[in-house]
Amino acid sequence: MSDEVSKAKAAAGTQQQEETIFSKIVDRKIPADIIYEDDTSLAFRDVTPQAPIHFLVIPKKPLARLSLAEDVDTPLLGHLMSVARKVAKQEKLDNGFRIVINDGPDGAQSVYHLHIHVMGGRQMGWPPG
Ligand code: C5P
Repeated sequence: MSDEVSKAKAAAGTQQQEETIFSKIVDRKIPADIIYEDDTSLAFRDVTPQAPIHFLVIPKKPLARLSLAEDVDTPLLGHLMSVARKVAKQEKLDNGFRIVINDGPDGAQSVYHLHIHVMGGRQMGWPPG
């Protein structure tokens, strides 16, 4: 089992927790390399990059996982995709990129605050692990 999957398994028990490490980044209680911000979202570089460029796009609102989003969140979800696209352009990922959302224990989610991984700068493989 990879380190990331072990972390995800350990985090599964904390998925109802309201203040995650990403809420702390939103509130500037802990540092992050923030590369984009607007009223409802934030993008910052992943501390353990899996590609030459790897950043996360998160809502400021503490939505735990994609599967817990509601219809009222649809505009926000669309906005996050739009931010991912804009920041990918800002990061010069003109040759393409990979977007991943890990959801829940089987999806190997380790931080229970919705985030879109955007990775690029190398050739991606398929299928993912
Ligand atoms: O999708 P998953 O929940 O596994 O991803 C969490 C991601 O958050 C990891 O890629 C991890 O490196 C990243 N992370 C971060 N900054 C932190 C804590 C975690 O970029 N302070």
